Amino acid sequence: MAYKVGDACINCGSCDSECPVEAISEKDNHRWIDASKCQDCGVCAGACPVEAIAAE
Ligand code: SF4
Ligand code: SF4
Repeated sequence: MAYKVGDACINCGSCDSECPVEAISEKDNHRWIDASKCQDCGVCAGACPVEAIAAE
């Protein structure tokens, strides 16, 4: 299990700094979550203004 950034992402960057394990990076004008690093904490989902992040 890992959280995933969906198509609604507007690349604002709010989630980035919230991740305790630095699993979020930028790619192709979206943020992207490295599933191998994600600890499933859900903090990024709460920080996203457009609810683009969800558990998969
Ligand atoms: S769920 Fe937690 S560990 Fe995973 S990307 Fe979001 S903030 Fe980082
Ligand atoms: S907080 Fe949401 S909209 Fe902003 S970069 Fe992260 S996933 Fe994209």
